[in-house]
Amino acid sequence: MKRRIEDEFTHLKISRQRKYQLRMQRDKRCTECGEPALEGSRCLKHLVKARERQRAKRGLKRRYRNTLSYRLESLAA
Ligand SMILES: [Zn+2]
Repeated sequence: MKRRIEDEFTHLKISRQRKYQLRMQRDKRCTECGEPALEGSRCLKHLVKARERQRAKRGLKRRYRNTLSYRLESLAA
């Protein structure tokens, strides 16, 4: 019995990780952990993680309080 997943991404020449991310996006799941995504393409936990990663990379000092992940964070608190 075949157990391979066959869908629109199966035959694309992209990495397995990228396919996973595309499937998660299609299904409205977090692209990192597969939890249901809130808005954007990640769950709250990973939205925050991605935001902090970007901050560190760019060396930003300011925080943009209107950013989606902050708003969701304050809703969750
Ligand atoms: Zn996640």
